[in-house]
Amino acid sequence: MKELATIQDKYLYLFADCFPVKGHTRTMLCDVSRQKVYFVDNSYYELLSVLKDNNIGTVAQMLDGEEDLIYFKEFIDYLLDIELAIVVDTLDRFPSMELEWDHPSKIINSIIDIRDEMHDFNKIFNELEVLACYHIQIRAYCQLPVSKLEEILALTVGKNFRSVDFLIEYDGKEAEIKALLDKYEIAQVTYHTYEMELFDEEPEAKNRAKVYHGSLGYTKQKVSGCEGCGLVNINSMRIRDVKGFTENIKHNGCLNRKISIDETGNIKNCPSMEKSYGHVNNISLTKIADDTEFQKPWNINKDNIDGCKDCEYRYICTDCRAYTTDGDLHSKPAKCQYDPYTGVWADKEESVNTVFA
Ligand code: SF4
Ligand code: SF4
Repeated sequence: MKELATIQDKYLYLFADCFPVKGHTRTMLCDVSRQKVYFVDNSYYELLSVLKDNNIGTVAQMLDGEEDLIYFKEFIDYLLDIELAIVVDTLDRFPSMELEWDHPSKIINSIIDIRDEMHDFNKIFNELEVLACYHIQIRAYCQLPVSKLEEILALTVGKNFRSVDFLIEYDGKEAEIKALLDKYEIAQVTYHTYEMELFDEEPEAKNRAKVYHGSLGYTKQKVSGCEGCGLVNINSMRIRDVKGFTENIKHNGCLNRKISIDETGNIKNCPSMEKSYGHVNNISLTKIADDTEFQKPWNINKDNIDGCKDCEYRYICTDCRAYTTDGDLHSKPAKCQYDPYTGVWADKEESVNTVFA
């Protein structure tokens, strides 16, 4: 334990990749690089703010009495122990991190829903390639013949997509799917409506919503339509890298740079949203991606969403703009399980906390 007298002329430097996020009930200290979070009382958020401009001795003099000094000392030791901070001679050499975010792609990710009829994937993929899209998710509310899957994947050859993830109804064709996944390295398949005893065979996976074996995943959840999307629980919290974290500070965690096609071919921000920007057969994705009206949800960050703006999870939460409590674009996700005003997760007992393990 450091004696305050020995460090009173020094400064406490909170590492630039550690972000204190103040909520209504508590503050989250988010160690983005190590993907860990710690919770402290909100009074420590204020203390950290004061420590940005004052040395440790000056801050100690601002405190009321012996008890506060003990807490202050313990807090410094705690931050040093968990390696979120160091004691330095000056803060001048440690400028704060630039929080600007940008990306070379106009569209980074896309959701394409299908049911009985196929879309024109040749047209769609050509347009997504022009937009320099990285990630594509294809959600099938039905079984998809392996030949159809291969037909779609063949259209990705020569394009610069980073990943193509399929969510399809289980049909027992794993052997053929695995062969396909070996052939197309960017592909991943998750089976939904999986009714076998997979979870019992793997006790450690008991509470997980999905289990993966390489690029093949399984979930028991029956995904019969886009309305199954939008759940926000503790398992959906994700600490991405610093770039992803700053994206979440500035932009919408789900919809930023996303374009979607619903099962009937309507182009939308997300398949569950009502507003359509036209049918994919009649208008190009590139034109819609440039539409300023279409881009508006990209910039709805958590600081301008009711409820979420008071939540300490707001910069690691994916969000949902399709299902909201008041049905408008600026109210809290209706399927969120967290109450930032009590600090309680409604479904915590049933959850496995992957982020904080
Ligand atoms: S209140 Fe908002 S920010 Fe907090 S967990 Fe729920 S959806 Fe995410
Ligand atoms: S806005 Fe909601 S429903 Fe739409 S993709 Fe995002 S999480 Fe899913």
